[in-house]
Amino acid sequence: MAAGSGDRTGLGYNKLLFEFDGACIIEHTLRAVKTVSDQIVVVCNPLEMKTIGKIADKYDAQITSGGNTRTQSVRNGLEFLRGSAKKGDIVIVHNGANPFTTKKVFEDSIEKAKETGSGIAVFPAIDSLRKKTENDGSNPIDRSEIVYVQTPQTFNLVKLLEAYDNVSGDFSDDAQVYEKHFGFVAMSAGSRGNVKITTDDDLSQLAARDARIGNGYDTHKLIEGRKLVLGGIEIPHKKGLLGHSDADVLLHAVIDAILSAIGSRDIGTLFPDTDPQYKGIPSTKLLKEVITLMLKEKFEVKNISAVLLAQKPRLSPYVDAMRENLAHILGIAMKEVGLSVTTTEGLGFVGREEGIACYSTVLLKRCIHS
Ligand code: MG
Repeated sequence: MAAGSGDRTGLGYNKLLFEFDGACIIEHTLRAVKTVSDQIVVVCNPLEMKTIGKIADKYDAQITSGGNTRTQSVRNGLEFLRGSAKKGDIVIVHNGANPFTTKKVFEDSIEKAKETGSGIAVFPAIDSLRKKTENDGSNPIDRSEIVYVQTPQTFNLVKLLEAYDNVSGDFSDDAQVYEKHFGFVAMSAGSRGNVKITTDDDLSQLAARDARIGNGYDTHKLIEGRKLVLGGIEIPHKKGLLGHSDADVLLHAVIDAILSAIGSRDIGTLFPDTDPQYKGIPSTKLLKEVITLMLKEKFEVKNISAVLLAQKPRLSPYVDAMRENLAHILGIAMKEVGLSVTTTEGLGFVGREEGIACYSTVLLKRCIHS
């Protein structure tokens, strides 16, 4: 079932198309369903036949259009199957927004449906429950009597068709339709993890699973007659770094780490040193542009770690100022910006004071609205 509008999430588009762990919700759901099905029909919004159809294709699933209510949409899905329905066929009705259903949950409901004609995944209530009364009052409910109803809801196909053919009105699930006609519906074992993605909070939790790491490295040559700018801070020294911009190696390494994490091309490709508009540009401006790019990709910085390699000047007195400036630009706390500085014991180009180098690693987290 993928015909809902998904508008309780405030996303501005169907939540089933929200991506996490490299695929959108409906795709994760299809992967789960495919483990137990011979034929899949996705019932989708008529306006989204093309988008959902492309995804369905990947899983050899067919599509049909839904109706104005859930009950009507299930009817449409069942109509699609009616022509080929054989005695003993089992149909699983499953929400497109339940991407975490385990094979065990499906199999348990299938087993029940084979035995009894129906198998509704339910999960026992864990929280204390109360029933509302007047004037903001409430009375406790014995939670041992309460179960949460989930999908899959699995049935003998011929029997479910019979129920739908004989019952009219709208229902919030298929268990109610089946029960209304046959008088009984059997429970099977659902699971706590088998959540239906419904609200903004649910999406935030999905987003939180999605972290990206990126690495960056940069080096610039030290020469006389240039300012030394590191982390956007001017550091007093007789030499500065040579470059098309202000040659801030720390910011350049951070920029490349972010670009790498969002799968973008690097700083040299985005801001070529042949382009006069970047001549002498403060790297803080470049970083701000890259942050805008990152936000467009719906990511924000979780934390950052960098190592500056310089023989001279001694950088440790400036470390906190650089961290504070970086934290400010990135909009994160100072303790989320790790910066260590080291000499190279006189070895190599850094040791010979010919240049300064910087390594950076960044961890990004998904943000759902930005
Ligand atoms: Mg550079």
